[in-house]
Amino acid sequence: MPLFPNESSLPSLPSHRLIDPVDEPDGELAQTLFLENQSLREQIARHTQLMQLLTHQLATPLTALNGSVHLLADPALNVNQRQEFLGVIEQQIRRLKELLRDMVALHDLETGKLETQPVSFCLRRLLEEATLGFAPYPITSYLSSNLPDVWGDRWQVSQVLVNLLSNAIKYSPNGHPIEVGASLESSGWVQVWVKDYGLGIPEADQPYLFERFYRVKHRDRQEIGGTGLGLSLCKLLVENQGGKMGFESTHGKGSRFYFTLPTTETANR
Ligand code: ADP
Repeated sequence: MPLFPNESSLPSLPSHRLIDPVDEPDGELAQTLFLENQSLREQIARHTQLMQLLTHQLATPLTALNGSVHLLADPALNVNQRQEFLGVIEQQIRRLKELLRDMVALHDLETGKLETQPVSFCLRRLLEEATLGFAPYPITSYLSSNLPDVWGDRWQVSQVLVNLLSNAIKYSPNGHPIEVGASLESSGWVQVWVKDYGLGIPEADQPYLFERFYRVKHRDRQEIGGTGLGLSLCKLLVENQGGKMGFESTHGKGSRFYFTLPTTETANR
């Protein structure tokens, strides 16, 4: 049985609010109830879609785990075959863990459970820390000299950087160096970017990239694992700081992902 009923089969929601009809004319009351009803239906539709996506995402690693566990039970297997199946199991468990971690983060963000603690911080230092985490992968920094301190939740911004850097490396099977940069725009906002010369993104997939669970299905990345949640998480985290996120990409050539943050002065003006 589905956890959430289809939107079309939802009954009309009864009024549970005490509204004095003398204070509020009938037309206005009906309009208020109509809007509440509509908003609840939309919420339920979103949950239904999320549950369907999640079920789909869980099914793939579980099927792979099931198959490998069954095959492992065969006493005729040699050591290499056994190692191979254990490798698949390990990989799928890692995938499930990533899925859980990203789902929890998304949920916390959307329900306001993730506390945002904006502070003034040095972006240069944060970028240094983030890139150090990927050593020895070659990453070149292009930071303008007049970079002022920025305003935001330092941990949340670091999560965005780590996600973007890890994608840039993951989708650069050629091992080409990554570039990161930040520059002050005339608007008083800083643009931070991560550029790679890897697989790039097919044009047809580009409009959907920030959707939850969206993964590009091109054969050039069939072997690369992921949850399809990283970019939607990044976008929400950036918007949580008041910033915007975007990208430019050419399939087969590479991508540049960027986001904006206010300078401390702009944020506190
Ligand atoms: P995941 O990497 O877990 O699939 P993301 O939400 O981080 O999920 O990315 C969604 C899709 O966008 C990926 O499946 C990948 O094909 C594409 N993508 C993301 N970043 C890059 C990049 N730097 N280069 C090429 N493709 C990318």
